[in-house]
Amino acid sequence: MLSGLSMPLPNLGSLLTHWRINAERIWQWWLKILGSSNQNANIDLTVRFVTNKRIKICYSIQAQEVYLRTDKMTKIIEIYERFSALDPTPNRPPREKIYNNAFKSLVGVTLSAQTKDERTAEACRNLFARAETPEEILALDIDELKQLIRPAGMYNNKARNLRLMSEQLLARHGGVVPNDREQLMQLAGVGRKSTDIMMRFVFNEPAIAVDTHVHRIANRLGIANTRAEHKTAEILERDTPDEYRWGAHEWLIDYGKHICKARRPLCDQCMFTDLCDYYKERHDENYEQSTSISTQRA
Ligand code: SF4
Repeated sequence: MLSGLSMPLPNLGSLLTHWRINAERIWQWWLKILGSSNQNANIDLTVRFVTNKRIKICYSIQAQEVYLRTDKMTKIIEIYERFSALDPTPNRPPREKIYNNAFKSLVGVTLSAQTKDERTAEACRNLFARAETPEEILALDIDELKQLIRPAGMYNNKARNLRLMSEQLLARHGGVVPNDREQLMQLAGVGRKSTDIMMRFVFNEPAIAVDTHVHRIANRLGIANTRAEHKTAEILERDTPDEYRWGAHEWLIDYGKHICKARRPLCDQCMFTDLCDYYKERHDENYEQSTSISTQRA
């Protein structure tokens, strides 16, 4: 696809300046859309005289996308290949929140929001000793419900959401947890991350749930370049090849928890130092995140 923008014809003395400014604007805009960490590719611009008073700067968007995606995909595939060699058949459902029952798993997943695993497990144990179904949860006094799930934190909100979610399940789905991403996300207290965990570990879909550990390592490696977990989830959803989708969540979360730690990542034990943007920024004196732009006249 050839796209472009037109502007008044500048005088010859400022023509090169105009080319440069617009090349840089287009380049930054394009990097933002792609979420790419690769800032060393070239962008080719052509300049066309539309009338004798206007010029049009044209840029080949699809060609550039192919270039960037190909370059980024090579790195992504190499990362997943190494994970795959290290851990060929990851299958570790998070036991503190995933049970042999879809409703209990959904409760466990929603209780686990911003909560340590052991606290989630304690809240689930307390609650499931008293109630295991939507009807039983609705039969609990709200204050008792809050006390049962108190170890999970934010228990006022979580108790309200559990009651509302139970009502919604009964009213909309006959008390059955739907095997459907959109319907899950419409339940109280169920966001994208909870939905992805449910799809991956309860409904056996190759979803990639993004928590703080996955978000951190994906951005340090340069698989994503975002500030928000849900944006990282979108990038991983878009860029993870099918053959690695089953393992991606567990590989990234385990490596993020145990090697690529938040405060002091164990880079000396890591197998990605040659690929990691974060490592290169801190250890390679010659590493520059520069923008390289070339222009050419048609
Ligand atoms: S090299 Fe360091 S920062 Fe990069 S992924 Fe490995 S542990 Fe994390």
